[in-house]
Amino acid sequence: MTDIAGDSGPGPRPLSHEDLEKLFQQAAHLAAGHMNGLADRPVFQQMSPDERAAILDAPLPASGLPTGDIFAFAERHILSRPFGNGHSRFMAWANSPPQPVGVAADMLASAMNPSCAGGDHAAIYLEHTATRWLLELTGMDGSGTFGLLTSGGSMATLTGLAAARHAAARRDGVDIRRDGLYATQRYTAYASDQAHSSVEKALELLGLGHRSLRKLPVDRDFRIDPAALESAVAADRAEGCRPFCVIGNAGTVNTGAIDDLDALATFCEDEDLWFHVDGAIGAASALDPRVSPQLSHMARADSVAFDPHKCLGVPVECGAILVRDGEQLRDAFSLVPPYLRTTPGVGIGGPPWFSEYGFQQTRGFRAFKLWATLAHLGRDGAGALVQHQNSLARELASLIDEHPALEPMAPVELSIACFRYRPDGVAARDLALDACNRAIVDRLQSEGRVFVTGTELHGRFAIRAATLHPGTTGSDLQVLVDEVTRVGAEQIG
Ligand SMILES: *Cc1c(COP(=O)(O)O)cnc(C)c1O
Repeated sequence: MTDIAGDSGPGPRPLSHEDLEKLFQQAAHLAAGHMNGLADRPVFQQMSPDERAAILDAPLPASGLPTGDIFAFAERHILSRPFGNGHSRFMAWANSPPQPVGVAADMLASAMNPSCAGGDHAAIYLEHTATRWLLELTGMDGSGTFGLLTSGGSMATLTGLAAARHAAARRDGVDIRRDGLYATQRYTAYASDQAHSSVEKALELLGLGHRSLRKLPVDRDFRIDPAALESAVAADRAEGCRPFCVIGNAGTVNTGAIDDLDALATFCEDEDLWFHVDGAIGAASALDPRVSPQLSHMARADSVAFDPHKCLGVPVECGAILVRDGEQLRDAFSLVPPYLRTTPGVGIGGPPWFSEYGFQQTRGFRAFKLWATLAHLGRDGAGALVQHQNSLARELASLIDEHPALEPMAPVELSIACFRYRPDGVAARDLALDACNRAIVDRLQSEGRVFVTGTELHGRFAIRAATLHPGTTGSDLQVLVDEVTRVGAEQIG
């Protein structure tokens, strides 16, 4: 890597156009080399102690390093040890590779570096458009609806539940922003026991405690039991609690199960409860005709958490909270100190500020990478992407069904397949299976040919594969099956 002339030494100096271009070209060169080279490398390699030390022990240089040194360090120590999700045989958690156009747009967003708190500049309008597109994908679009980009699904859920809590208190004649929780009854929320941990974290942060989440049992397919929901709400009301919110899963993190959103929406309408849908995994699958009927009732939610940095491959971080009534979000968050006051539509004010609809004041330009990714894919391309992800999981499920030593652990609805190694003659309840399958996951992770993680389903350990990489093929899936059965056979024959 070459140094940019005169860019070291005390304090930053403005660079010439030529030097700026050289600087960014070096980064582009590294980025392209990185993304193209991943396929030939192990999916994942742990850091050695020396590699960790090279990063951890680095002192803050007294005088600045030339950019050439920065990039050389990056190439040697940083780009060489990635998380793994760029590889087509990375099937862990819910982390996709980035769409290249999103990566490029993210650089442009950094170059502009606006605050998307609000104002009358292009970034603000781009966020309105990109979130409108998400609202359209979920069927929630319409007058008064609103979308706000967040760091991810967790922040989206926290934001939605804050609005739910505020709206419930308002109904009860309590100003929770002024008085806190002291004037309220015990609030209770409802979700299946498959709900994501961010729901509990959100309730903790909202001062409700995670005990206020009633975790309801699921059926064999990991969907919430609507009858259990009904009796839990009735029991809580009888005891003087204040049920305020139901969280429905549009794709659970464990298995991709989609709750009966129709039943939940109707129940919430009847019971006057806020209906939040966690669509972090599944909302984008509204573009997959095989599952879109199950997802159509997202449109009836009060709020939906959408996570474009998962199935749509928008570079992290990019989540979104979509709400049916933007004013409820604004009611829960708007606090405009005098130094920020503008008049909407007048002068530099622009539309109502995004910072009035969430917790953040200075906000990054996430909309650029989201807008560019969606604009480039188009509705058809985005649909093809999620359909590919979902069909890979079904293809994996067939390989599992066909293999005598593999057992499915959950139905495949979206892009997640859960299974385990269980050779002939080993009873389903044999506890050795948990240890064996855990060992398989550990071995695969350290060997680097294919990367999966595990989870617990009905108390049993399951191997969990999420197929989000657009470049994953049937032969990658076959590698997974071969590796699991090879290591499994070594474990228990
Ligand atoms: C990933 C995930 C979340 C949390 O989203 P982050 O983007 O990781 O904050 C919430 N719910 C489900 C179902 C998820 O899969």
